[in-house]
Amino acid sequence: MSEHGVALVTGANKGIGRGVAGGLAALGFTVLVGARDPRRGEEAAEALRAAGGDAHAVTLDVTDPATAREVARHVEERFGRLDVLVNNAGITGSGQVSPADAHDQVPSTVDLDMVRAVFETNVFGVIAVTNAVLPLLRRSPSPRVVNVSSHAASLTLTSDPDGPFAALLPSAAYSPSKSALNALTVQYANELRADGVLVNAVAPGYVDTDSNNHTGFLTVEQGASVVVRLATLGADGPTGGFFGEEGPVSW
Ligand code: NAP
Repeated sequence: MSEHGVALVTGANKGIGRGVAGGLAALGFTVLVGARDPRRGEEAAEALRAAGGDAHAVTLDVTDPATAREVARHVEERFGRLDVLVNNAGITGSGQVSPADAHDQVPSTVDLDMVRAVFETNVFGVIAVTNAVLPLLRRSPSPRVVNVSSHAASLTLTSDPDGPFAALLPSAAYSPSKSALNALTVQYANELRADGVLVNAVAPGYVDTDSNNHTGFLTVEQGASVVVRLATLGADGPTGGFFGEEGPVSW
């Protein structure tokens, strides 16, 4: 284990998660690259090692609690503790279309099974993974949890008829799932405040990834930087907050 500690990033085989894994590896963390496909996880870990990082793939499907328990068992056996958890894995529910442009997310006509699937990954998966590794985080001298949210989670921004979301299609799946993730972030932060576990939500901005068919204008490194910052907060850092590159984001 590196002296900086051990970090687990879910959905780290590509996109923002991979950028976060790279950022944490560059800071000296031992990084566990969570991926539901072991082959793609190993490819990403190999690339991080080739760049000088200490990275290892772990098979983790956030909708399958058995894989989360297995990762926790592996981490306990190999490292004895976990210092950072980044709950990054997420889906839009709309294939390769930005949720902002997805007609199939419009509330009055949305397919309830799609909404369930999005919540299964973006919300329930976060609970499953967090709870599986929480005993290991409690053993860290400076445990940090970052939930990768979105500006689309912000009720302040999305309810403003003149705001940045006014021109976009309403969403009954992705956007509410991230609002629920923000609510969960606050509840975990409240529970874990006394134990020194800092739990925050982060909006990475509009990042060029598969999830929006590469329409985002930020690089994964740019999107990942605020996530890495919240994952490496000092002891006096905030908890129960919602942050973007620009600073605090309105709930
Ligand atoms: P991405 O490139 O599609 O990457 C998503 C990652 O999550 C992939 O590694 C994917 O694995 C993984 N994943 C999906 N379902 C999973 C599951 N059940 N178990 C484990 N891993 C799973 O998307 P991204 O844009 O980097 O998104 C990363 C996070 O940022 C998401 O939470 C997203 O909502 C959030 N976000 C993105 C943007 C943006 O502009 N891109 C903006 C705001 C928030 P596979 O390769 O196996 O599919």
